[in-house]
Amino acid sequence: MKFTKKQIDRYSRQIILKKIGVAGQKKLLKSNVLIVGAGGLGSPISIYLAALGIGKIGIIDKDSVEISNLSRQIIFSTNDLKKNKSSVAINKLRKINPDIKLHSFNKRLTIKNINQIAKNFDLIVDGSDNFRTRFLINDYCLKNRKILVSGAISKFDGQVYTFNFSKKKSPCLRCFIPKMPSSPDVDNCEYDGVLGSLAGIIGTIQANEVIKEILEIGDTLCGYILIIDALKLTFRKVKLNKRSDCYCNEKKK
Ligand SMILES: [Zn+2]
Repeated sequence: MKFTKKQIDRYSRQIILKKIGVAGQKKLLKSNVLIVGAGGLGSPISIYLAALGIGKIGIIDKDSVEISNLSRQIIFSTNDLKKNKSSVAINKLRKINPDIKLHSFNKRLTIKNINQIAKNFDLIVDGSDNFRTRFLINDYCLKNRKILVSGAISKFDGQVYTFNFSKKKSPCLRCFIPKMPSSPDVDNCEYDGVLGSLAGIIGTIQANEVIKEILEIGDTLCGYILIIDALKLTFRKVKLNKRSDCYCNEKKK
């Protein structure tokens, strides 16, 4: 892969970084990321990943843009109301960076379609809003040894966690939450509310972790959960231990 003059200009501020360079930027352009949910988290995640040159990005979301989304889902505008989220998002990303491949999946991620949709992606970013999808992605990534960067927001609180299942010692979501909570389909933002700018904080941290996982630079969050209180502005990084009786140990045998 040889950079064009335009690519060198576009990515020059990253190429100049010693930890990235030409080789790192090429690695980003050869990488592929599936973003689950084109919502509050999916907006900043997709904008940054597209802008900084992830070579292939997929976005899956079945929903249409509603007016109550606009306070935090910054990839959408008022004239996008009622349009499908994943298609609108992809069109916006194409304008930000025509240099990369973009795929939209206008459907809900289910146990039936996850293999088909996710098979061509090495890393999955979870920006979903319910536990059923979170557990589904966790189990899929675990089984297929993929990298999962997950984020969650509610009220003024946010969490980010990363599981790199290509590494044997990575814990999984079930080590942290052994059983799927009752009412796994409830969207917390709808019932509890959420501060718009918190989606930006958490989504941007997720995008940052994706880059570190792909380039293998810095200290990634793998094995930790980052807990953020936006009101007190505290960031706590808590070690997440692998549970010996967890599903992830059975799967590794
Ligand atoms: Zn586990």
